[in-house]
Amino acid sequence: MEEKYFVCTGCQKRYPPDRIFPRCDDCFEPLEVEIFQEKINKKNHPKTTVDIHDNNILSKYASYYSFTHLDKELSLKEGNTPLIQANSLPSLLDIDNIYLKNETVNPTWSFKDRGTLSSIQHAKNSGYNYIGTVSSGNMAVSVAAYGARANIKTFVLVSADIPEEKIKPVLIYNPVLIKVEGNYGKLYFESLKIGRETGIYFLNSDVPFRVEGSKSIAFELCEQFNYDVPDYVIIPTSSGGNARGIIKGFLEFYQSGIIDNLPRFVCVQLEGCAPIYQAWIDRIDRISPVVKPKAIDNAIANPYPPSGNELLRKLRKYDGIVTAVSDKEALAAQKMLAREGIFAQPAAAVSISAIQKLRIKGIISKTDKCVAIITGSGLKYPGILDYHRFDIRTCTLENMKENIVSILKK
Ligand SMILES: *Cc1c(COP(=O)(O)O)cnc(C)c1O
Ligand SMILES: [Zn+2]
Repeated sequence: MEEKYFVCTGCQKRYPPDRIFPRCDDCFEPLEVEIFQEKINKKNHPKTTVDIHDNNILSKYASYYSFTHLDKELSLKEGNTPLIQANSLPSLLDIDNIYLKNETVNPTWSFKDRGTLSSIQHAKNSGYNYIGTVSSGNMAVSVAAYGARANIKTFVLVSADIPEEKIKPVLIYNPVLIKVEGNYGKLYFESLKIGRETGIYFLNSDVPFRVEGSKSIAFELCEQFNYDVPDYVIIPTSSGGNARGIIKGFLEFYQSGIIDNLPRFVCVQLEGCAPIYQAWIDRIDRISPVVKPKAIDNAIANPYPPSGNELLRKLRKYDGIVTAVSDKEALAAQKMLAREGIFAQPAAAVSISAIQKLRIKGIISKTDKCVAIITGSGLKYPGILDYHRFDIRTCTLENMKENIVSILKK
């Protein structure tokens, strides 16, 4: 089998397959795994080649991945997440068909598990004995969990001011956790450098094999829609790694003739930290760091997204959209999703706010089929529930029946 090369998303320079450092030596833009041209074509239609009962995303879609060896026991059965048709959102938002890709049911309750699996597999195949990541949230939890399962020494670097309650769900998996004082934005790049020098494979937010893992969201969506792609796919966006993966997955199916067109991709950020959106509306090619980010949910508040420039290029090329919503809109959307029976974190609910916004603007029409990627679970940040107002009734045992009957009459 021909080995895949890496290609720079900025200047197209190619790098050999044993390359681990995820960015270009010349222009410093992110690298990606070359798109498969020779293997994917209509003859290899997943309808005939994919075993739909195979619930390992990497073996199920093996022809779209470059792995020469798979360790099945690394998997915690990530992916294969349900696509649910919304019941009450269509009338609320005045759109006929809204679908929810429920990533909250992944092994560590966010989509991150897909990219963690493919990155750990790549680390193992490349002979690495240590892995690491820089994160304070879902990625730290995911990498710590998969590192524990793979029995690989796992380094989690967090900023020194991270609250205790966020660290404990990472520590339960027993990684080496290090609080680092200093600029958190620089930690991403610094860790890659140190990894290169010390033999630790840092699977940070948008490294090529994280992007590869996220392709499986697109593959599953194509299958779930029976290869008749939806009009819009809405993606909460921070580093940009997940959005790049979803777009790449659709592109691989499109370029091989498996699907006839692409959906319109919508990336959503929070207004308090929206560097990609800012560059989008300013019509410039390069993002600038947000100096004082202030957003309700850190999971989509990367002040200097490492894949920001590349996302701008891709979204401009394929007629995508970038939008931003407020904390208040995110919280309202969290409640709307709860009405569908899904408890998402605000970072994940913003996809619903974006649909609402684009519908009001008339960009999305009533008959457009929309898919919201619900990226992670609300249980991760119970503290955020304090922002909501809830009604709680109390009564005594003696007047309980009276109480209930009075409510029934309302
Ligand atoms: C990581 C994360 C995101 C952002 O994904 P990126 O790949 O960094 O753009 C969005 N939502 C949730 C719940 C996340 O954990
Ligand atoms: Zn380059």
